[in-house]
Amino acid sequence: MSAPRLEIHLERLQHNARILVERFGQQGIAVTGVSKATLGDADIVRTWVAAGIGSIGESRIETIEALAASGVAVPMLLIRAPLLSQVERVVAHAAISCNSEPVVLEALARTAARQGVRHGVLLMVELGDLREGILATELEAVAQLTLALPNLELMGIGTNLGCQHGVAPDARNMAELSRLATALERRFSLHLPWCSGGNSANLPWLAGGGDPGRINHLRLGEALLLGREPLGGTAIPGLHTDAITLVAEVIEAKTKPSQPWGQRCRTSFPTATPLDQVPRAHAGERRALVAIGEQDVDPAGLGSPEGMTIRGASSDHLVIGCGGMPLQVGDELRFSLSYSALLRAMTSPFVSRCLIHDRS
Ligand SMILES: *Cc1c(COP(=O)(O)O)cnc(C)c1O
Repeated sequence: MSAPRLEIHLERLQHNARILVERFGQQGIAVTGVSKATLGDADIVRTWVAAGIGSIGESRIETIEALAASGVAVPMLLIRAPLLSQVERVVAHAAISCNSEPVVLEALARTAARQGVRHGVLLMVELGDLREGILATELEAVAQLTLALPNLELMGIGTNLGCQHGVAPDARNMAELSRLATALERRFSLHLPWCSGGNSANLPWLAGGGDPGRINHLRLGEALLLGREPLGGTAIPGLHTDAITLVAEVIEAKTKPSQPWGQRCRTSFPTATPLDQVPRAHAGERRALVAIGEQDVDPAGLGSPEGMTIRGASSDHLVIGCGGMPLQVGDELRFSLSYSALLRAMTSPFVSRCLIHDRS
């Protein structure tokens, strides 16, 4: 089998999806599966749908189009605000999009009218993480505009925390979202189908007994794919954290001095090469050079095999301290992945994907 490759265990992914759909279903919370870290891998998406995931979230319209073309039939939610230059494609292929800009809503409405369809709108609210979203004070006006525009269906409101500044979903900001949903419903005498509380960063708050209030929808990627929550990186009880792993191959294995010699200047990837942290006590250590690099993966997001240490990385090489393991040229090493490492590995044309069907 060729390396580097991502080994994707479909049964483990299916298990993660089943557990989360069931767990949140008991709380009246629907789950949209966010496949963007896999670039909308159709096999993974089909596995999720088979496990009860009722809609798919994607950040890019290109991916939604590809999923539709590959026969995925569940509704698709564009989770990044539509580009003004892509509204035609958004209306044609996404059932719903997340929005925060009146000018885009107007363009979506015009386009939906021209295409003779209705387009669902989830209005995103800024609750402190300072990425996308309408300020709470402006929400009512934007909702009013959405309701007045033709061919748009106001699906509800949502928020996204954790991704930009690591702001955690908590009792205060989640209650604020519920309060805003109720206020809009009263003000306009309507029912909002969705109150979308957030992403995998919402799991610690809910697991800690947080009151969902009006929240009846989550958009989950990392929890489904890696079995972890992003804020602390902790494993979610009952889920597989090894559903996707990365395999790479050793191309050099030698015992070398533990410190470099010669005059030292900067490197192309300064943060990824923490050579000074190599323990000085070592007279030398066995190092393995692995054929994968910054081009293929975020080295900081790799979990190395038991006993081994990542010593650094550049565009095409990963340097590993073998920690006593007698690694040889040609050996394969298996790494766990963070979200950023997974995203980059999925994006690299040099990393293949290998689907594995476990017998369980
Ligand atoms: C990426 C993203 C998600 C999914 O985030 P995870 O942390 O992977 O669960 C949900 N909503 C929005 C708007 C996103 O951009």
